[in-house]
Amino acid sequence: MHVMVLGAGVTGVTTAWYLRQAGFDVSVVDRQPGAGLETSFANGGQISVSHPEPWANPGAPLLALRWMGRPDAPLRFRPQPDLAQWRWALSFLRECLPWRTRHNTEAIAALAIHSQRELHRLRSAAGIEHEFDSRQQGILHLYFTQEDFAQASTRADELARLGIDARVSSAADCIAIEPALANAAPALHGGLYAPGDESGDAMYFTRALAQVLARDGVRFHYETRIERLEHTGGLINGVMVRDSNGRPDMLVANAYVVCLGSFSPLMVRALGEQLPIYPVKGYSVTAPVLDPTRAPQVSLTDESRRIVCSRLGDRLRIAGTAELNGYDLSIDPARGKGILEWAQARLPGAIDPAKAQLWTGLRPATPGNIPIIGKGRGVNLWLNTGHGTLGWTLACGSAEILAGLMRGRRPPIAFPVRGA
Ligand SMILES: Cc1cc2nc3c(=O)[nH]c(=O)nc-3n(C[C@H](O)[C@H](O)[C@H](O)COP(=O)(O)OP(=O)(O)OC[C@H]3O[C@@H](n4cnc5c(N)ncnc54)[C@H](O)[C@@H]3O)c2cc1C
Repeated sequence: MHVMVLGAGVTGVTTAWYLRQAGFDVSVVDRQPGAGLETSFANGGQISVSHPEPWANPGAPLLALRWMGRPDAPLRFRPQPDLAQWRWALSFLRECLPWRTRHNTEAIAALAIHSQRELHRLRSAAGIEHEFDSRQQGILHLYFTQEDFAQASTRADELARLGIDARVSSAADCIAIEPALANAAPALHGGLYAPGDESGDAMYFTRALAQVLARDGVRFHYETRIERLEHTGGLINGVMVRDSNGRPDMLVANAYVVCLGSFSPLMVRALGEQLPIYPVKGYSVTAPVLDPTRAPQVSLTDESRRIVCSRLGDRLRIAGTAELNGYDLSIDPARGKGILEWAQARLPGAIDPAKAQLWTGLRPATPGNIPIIGKGRGVNLWLNTGHGTLGWTLACGSAEILAGLMRGRRPPIAFPVRGA
């Protein structure tokens, strides 16, 4: 049976891997000239099992109000005359209810733990352990206000309940864990250290895995823009595409999996499917390390500013900000400057700012940050999409679950799959 994966981001390529492992004949279609070139290109690099709490939580509406009008606000809502945006924002508010947050956090934690286990299996089975600047030194969550740090011990207890190890750490403990934080010491109130977390370059991983799959017989149709799904009576007959010269073609398979990130809802809308996914724009800065003793090896999360930082070989990646502003990918230099200033203030002398590369990507976010995995509308249509802030963390587990569902297996964890 031939399965066509639509999208070659980290979600699509890991899906192709698990489908191949499950014995399917697999092909992948993407408009870019290679794998991992859109949202999976320059994300924060964290495999962040210790961050299952979604943005939608009981404190979020008040926080968003407090941040309104601040140029360095981690979260920004730019209202558009777009029904999808308003519908998403209202659903987001519903997901802020305490019981919804609790349900979402538990589901994400289970998937994240499963996903990390699968990542470990996959990277050694595919032989790509050394291909993506991977680092298994944990994530240190940092608190720069006493008010924020006061929440650390409740959060550690909650994570322990979910089976995730995280230790409350004093400012001195934080510097012992990551000596490059020495210059941040005066402003630091403390941290929460999750030793089991890790980091790595999602794009390098995706590219390396795609190469392994191509060698193994998976066909990649790059520079191929998908225009629409052709369907009759609930059956997808093929995918109408155009190559880079604008030539139309129809690609045909027995089943199709949608892994198109933020663009997934646009593709399935014609089938009467309303996917609650909206693009949430974020920024990252990648810069060469200038002084290795000043650049952290442990991945960092500034909980007070919602900024993450990962060492990727001889580069440092710093990422953050969230903007609800449609599909706009233009770069606002002020947003990038804020991230770069964070690095210079907290890790002075670590990177070369003159060589910093600014990037922006669209997180395919569902209101509760729960990805949509399972059956789509259409007999032979499947979905693995909507991974929001955690697509790199959740990729392998989501793909394993989807491939299992297509073989008629229930998920090995408690996770709400779609229509199966
Ligand atoms: C600033 C930022 C920081 C982040 N940090 C982290 C982090 O530290 N840890 C973490 O776990 N996650 C992080 N994320 C989230 C993570 O990057 C995403 O969830 C993940 O990359 C989504 O992967 P995807 O494969 O679903 O989407 P994408 O990578 O966007 O892949 C979708 C693919 O579909 C293709 N496509 C779309 N439309 C068409 C079409 N019409 N025709 C053909 N092809 C099409 C695109 O070319 C693309 O390759 C971050 C995101 C951002 C923006």
